[in-house]
Amino acid sequence: MAIRNIVTEEDEILTKPCRRVEKFDARLHQIIDDMKETLQAAKGAGLAAPQVGILRQICIIDAVEGEEPLELINPEILSQNGEQSGAEGCLSFPDQWALVNRPMQVKVRAQDRNGNWFETAGEELTARCICHEIDHLQGVVFLQKAERMLSQEELESGDYT
Ligand code: ZN
Repeated sequence: MAIRNIVTEEDEILTKPCRRVEKFDARLHQIIDDMKETLQAAKGAGLAAPQVGILRQICIIDAVEGEEPLELINPEILSQNGEQSGAEGCLSFPDQWALVNRPMQVKVRAQDRNGNWFETAGEELTARCICHEIDHLQGVVFLQKAERMLSQEELESGDYT
């Protein structure tokens, strides 16, 4: 396993849509394992393949402490419910925080590292994270969905009114 370099906002790769994964081989497993290690080292809640320079539909969600990270290949949102407004950041946009509206619950269909389809659901932070990472796979970054930026004071106080 290896820690990969996380690209930052000026990199054009973040604006490009990713291709679907077709081959579920050792190379894919290597990418997934590297992404998990990179995410862990960066202490983030999620990571999408374009953030490590790979234009493929792969993302890792690690939003809840104590839970196994979720590997999503070729993910699609099946349904979403409710809404939440909260602070959101991105490993590719260090020290930038924005107020972003997301669904409270999402249901997703994706393939695992061996190509098997499965369905999963997430709520609150997990739902926020899934939406944020799937956006990355379509070349969309969170600032495009932000209501406004948050200051350090707002972030620390948790008061976004
Ligand atoms: Zn991000």
